[in-house]
Amino acid sequence: MNGKRYSRQRELIYEALMHTEEHPTAEMLYSWLKPDNPSLSLGTVYRNLNLLADEGVITRMAFPVERYDGNTAPHSHFCCDRCGRVYDIAVPYSESLDQEALKRSEHQIDRHEVLFRGVCAACKASR
Ligand SMILES: [Zn+2]
Ligand SMILES: [Zn+2]
Repeated sequence: MNGKRYSRQRELIYEALMHTEEHPTAEMLYSWLKPDNPSLSLGTVYRNLNLLADEGVITRMAFPVERYDGNTAPHSHFCCDRCGRVYDIAVPYSESLDQEALKRSEHQIDRHEVLFRGVCAACKASR
């Protein structure tokens, strides 16, 4: 694989991630991009997501399944217990929570991530 094609696929994956709020898995991105990019492989998607995450331009999220976020600014998430979709929630970052955790442990605490759980608006409406 030549360098040009490699970076084009990487750009493609990055663009797709920047234009969705779904916090997709690698498989989801692959299924979205594959129809227009027949030469794309799932391995390439994984490899490029890992590179982008290592560079810090996207965020790798540890959920029950690994997901990716194009928004690298600190923000909180909500995961629906029914459909598994992940949404951003704009609650302010709590420095005091870091301080509280610091007081109660020996660890160097750099940041925290908040995950809310429940039933999303779409699932609630479809009952
Ligand atoms: Zn839902
Ligand atoms: Zn997010």
